[in-house]
Amino acid sequence: MRNVIIIGSGCAGNTAAVYAARANLKPLVVGGHEPGGQLSITSLVENFPGFPEGIQGPELVENIRRQAEHFGAEFTHGSVIEADLRTRPFRLNIDGEWQPARTVIIATGASARWLNLPNEQKLIGHGVSSCATCDGFFYRGKKVMVIGGGDTAMEEANFLTRFASEVAVVHRRDDFRASKIMLDRARANSKIKFLTNTVVDDVHDINHGAVTAVTLRNVKTGETWQRDVDGFFVAIGHIPNTKPFAGQVELDDEGYIVDHGNATTNIPGVFHAGDVQDRLYRQAITAAGMGCMAAIAAERFLETEGH
Ligand SMILES: Cc1cc2nc3c(=O)[nH]c(=O)nc-3n(C[C@H](O)[C@H](O)[C@H](O)COP(=O)(O)OP(=O)(O)OC[C@H]3O[C@@H](n4cnc5c(N)ncnc54)[C@H](O)[C@@H]3O)c2cc1C
Repeated sequence: MRNVIIIGSGCAGNTAAVYAARANLKPLVVGGHEPGGQLSITSLVENFPGFPEGIQGPELVENIRRQAEHFGAEFTHGSVIEADLRTRPFRLNIDGEWQPARTVIIATGASARWLNLPNEQKLIGHGVSSCATCDGFFYRGKKVMVIGGGDTAMEEANFLTRFASEVAVVHRRDDFRASKIMLDRARANSKIKFLTNTVVDDVHDINHGAVTAVTLRNVKTGETWQRDVDGFFVAIGHIPNTKPFAGQVELDDEGYIVDHGNATTNIPGVFHAGDVQDRLYRQAITAAGMGCMAAIAAERFLETEGH
């Protein structure tokens, strides 16, 4: 019987593991399909406190893992495919094997939606991004493109004008899901240009290992053309990884975990940490902070139960 099983090995899960392990709870961390989480697919991270020169994303998250292992956390491969959180002890089906646990920390993140262009994944961290807050700083005086027509896309576009010389917003329709206020703000910004009824066919150039241009297509006329850009920001939403917990853990209409205060969920003994609940900040440091909160909450919960 595990005191705590942490689901997810990103910043949130690994930080929860550091705290749970130092509290002598011997946590088990289930790594999931993306060991190390989203930071494992990026390059330089410049906004995680403590690294004045920045640090590579994979190195940062691996360091947190090693720190947790040093204090006795155990990591396992595989994913939670099913969860029984109705009765206690809780039970998690990890790739076909059921594991009982007194407490569970869900730190499964929210995956960015991508456009699935032929070269997109190869250029993530090399000009392709899903986070203006994270990467905008790299594009001082450069040309960037934002894909999307919702509030997030408008917010990212406005934010990027602080750095970029030009921000092109590409949207497949000519009407926008974004709220009027966000759209008006973007339209009033002289650095933002709109390309509507337009989709991206691909992003280039994998031979240079950096974004240099995109191929665009007008969906009404079928015309295609290339446009030079240095940064390519996909802002078409995120998918919270909560499928195994649906119907038990309370989720909002987009599938994010609903916070019941101090990292708790609607189920006593089941906690959340990181982007799986946080649709607002989506940062490595906030995910790590929430991992700390969830582990301390789990520890106190176990203590009140005499473990
Ligand atoms: C390209 C890119 C660049 C970024 N750059 C920065 C940056 O510079 N600075 C910054 O602060 N933030 C950055 N971010 C955001 C940051 O990476 C996230 O906010 C952070 O990783 C969230 O951590 P998390 O642990 O909550 O989730 P994630 O990192 O998404 O980790 C989720 C974990 O859960 C696991 N998982 C999912 N489902 C299951 C399951 N069923 N069973 C078991 N495990 C499961 C996954 O395998 C993964 O290990 C960037 C994100 C991206 C995509």
